[in-house]
Formats: sequence, C-alpha cells, structure tokens
Amino acid sequence: MELNYIEHIGIAVKDLPSAIGYYEDILGLRCYSIEEVKDQKVKTAFFKIGQTKIELLESTSPDGPIGKFIEKKGEGIHHIAFAVNNIETQLGNAASKGIHLIDEKPRKGAEGLEIAFLHPRSTFGVLTELCENKKQL
Ligand code: ZN
Repeated sequence: MELNYIEHIGIAVKDLPSAIGYYEDILGLRCYSIEEVKDQKVKTAFFKIGQTKIELLESTSPDGPIGKFIEKKGEGIHHIAFAVNNIETQLGNAASKGIHLIDEKPRKGAEGLEIAFLHPRSTFGVLTELCENKKQL
C-alpha cells in the first residue's frame, strides 16, 4: 500500500459541545466545521493541526457505531485515517494481502471524502480508514 499522511484521527466523545470546548479553550484549536453523517449516525466536529485533522465523533443514536463503541470501550481514540491516492487500488492491495475490509468499495464520508475502513482484527486493533479527496485532484 501507499499512504500519503495522517489525514485525521477520529475520537469518540459523548458530548460534542463540551469536547469542542476542550479542544478550543484548552488546546487552542479552532473548530472549522460541524457536520452530521446520517448513515453513520454521527455528528462530527473538525479541527486542523498542520495537515492533519482531529475529527470528534458524537453518536446521534445509541445503536450507531460510535454509540456502541463508547458503550464498550468508553470515550477515546476510535480510528486513524490515512490519506491515499487511488483508494480503490489501495483497498485491492490490502485485500490481496489478506486484510479484512469493512468496506469493499469506497463510500462518501464527512467533508465529501471517499472513505473505506480496514477491519481492526487485521490491523492489530486499530480501526483504519483510508480516504481520498477526489475533489482536490
Ligand atoms: Zn474518519
């Protein structure tokens, strides 16, 4: 595979406004976007640090993926996302090496990126996201 850089780190939080308060008031970052991703049942808040983003994730429903994650593991780092070119090719490379894919094909994520997840059971416990910004190219 070929990864360009860490696009973002996804962090599961129970309450978006209080978490945003911490990132803004204590860490001094600025939330530049809040977006709901309906099919993932999450509300996201984005911060930028260098070329990497922090993506805070609050569940909009207890049965969504973030709701379940928090129930099982509590708040904290949920996934790491790598920027790639040719996301379909990268997914194919991973699959051909026996990596279990959550998404066989890329789908639309927050910020209009094409995203796909690798399963944590193939990645030493780290839910891994690949994302490609096709608008920029
Ligand atoms: Zn993400």
